[in-house]
Amino acid sequence: MAQPEQIMPEQTIAIIVAGGTAQRLKDGDNTPKQYRNLTGGKTVLAQTLQNFIQHSGIDKILCVIHKDHEDLYQRAIAPLPKDKILPPVFGGNTRQDSVLNGLKSLENQNCKSVFVHDAARPFLSLRLIDDILEALKHGHIAILPCTQPVDTVKYQQDNHFETLDRQNIYLAQTPQAFAFAPFFQAHLSGAGKNMTDDAAVMEQSGHKIHIINGEAANFKITTAEDYKKARQMTDSQPKVPHIGTGFDVHRLVSGRPLILCNIEIPHIKGLDGHSDADVALHALTDALLGTLGAGDIGTHFPPSDNQWKNANSALFLAKALELIEAANGRLINLDITILAEKPKILPYRQAMLARLSELTGLPEQCIGLKATTTEGLGFVGREEGIAAQASALVLYPERL
Ligand code: MG
Repeated sequence: MAQPEQIMPEQTIAIIVAGGTAQRLKDGDNTPKQYRNLTGGKTVLAQTLQNFIQHSGIDKILCVIHKDHEDLYQRAIAPLPKDKILPPVFGGNTRQDSVLNGLKSLENQNCKSVFVHDAARPFLSLRLIDDILEALKHGHIAILPCTQPVDTVKYQQDNHFETLDRQNIYLAQTPQAFAFAPFFQAHLSGAGKNMTDDAAVMEQSGHKIHIINGEAANFKITTAEDYKKARQMTDSQPKVPHIGTGFDVHRLVSGRPLILCNIEIPHIKGLDGHSDADVALHALTDALLGTLGAGDIGTHFPPSDNQWKNANSALFLAKALELIEAANGRLINLDITILAEKPKILPYRQAMLARLSELTGLPEQCIGLKATTTEGLGFVGREEGIAAQASALVLYPERL
């Protein structure tokens, strides 16, 4: 009688390493990056899986997840077709242990080739999977997609810099693919310790690695900046521009610091107000709230509430940006004019610009910052107060 192994056709299985806890994203959200939403509500993991689900050369998919993430995992795969997806296995303490746990669970699957891929690389192409399958077909047992650096590469040792030949530098991506038997053997033998990729485990076991071209778009989401870029890449919904404007005035008084655009400026007087009275950030915050029809700064931070006494106005700005982010908006540019007779703003302009860029995440070229006097006229001209006006443009999904 035929053994089950002989009946089951040889399979190519993709192991998706999804056990990470995302400690490097550091943006205040504790959701691990593979379970974060991309634009349109699909998670990073679901976007990654979709490529393997779609490709006819991949027979099964196995996710290695953290034991505390079962609910997150189930929610992430809920919208996907499940026929290729094997029940998940739990990861170990290191990436290497996690892959080994995955391999062990595949022992009875008649697995001929195995792909190993990072859950946080959602933009691999079907063509990259094609190229890897092709290399496997040619008999290579370890396939590694790589990009090469475009920047000149320096190597530092002690206080000495050396310029490396970038032609010889390879940046390893995933998916990496292997013939199952030697790969499983290499992992079982415990080759290397704490290797950060699987090709390294094969290198340690003396196997030859076959390099193919990786893809720039197949980057790994690691930093908050990467996550933002990933969201923008999945942003295919039509967008419409919303403009907001803001205007604010504060009185100049003795005994208060003068803070404009979150920068303290030496002056004999400062602006009076419940918070730090940063008139420029207040006008900007109102402009941002205006793009959403979300009221004004007083709606969100009533002066009657003592917790905002002397508050740093960067907090108000952060709240407005948070509301925009929650509505899937993308801030495009902003423009601020400060109306003041004295002091001169120009010497502090660059510092203000840099701070605004830091606070909003916009490059400085997308931030207008100007100052004007009112030619001695009116309350500004009499140095009784400082005014600021701002406008902002944000792109939002067509239906908010
Ligand atoms: Mg104000």
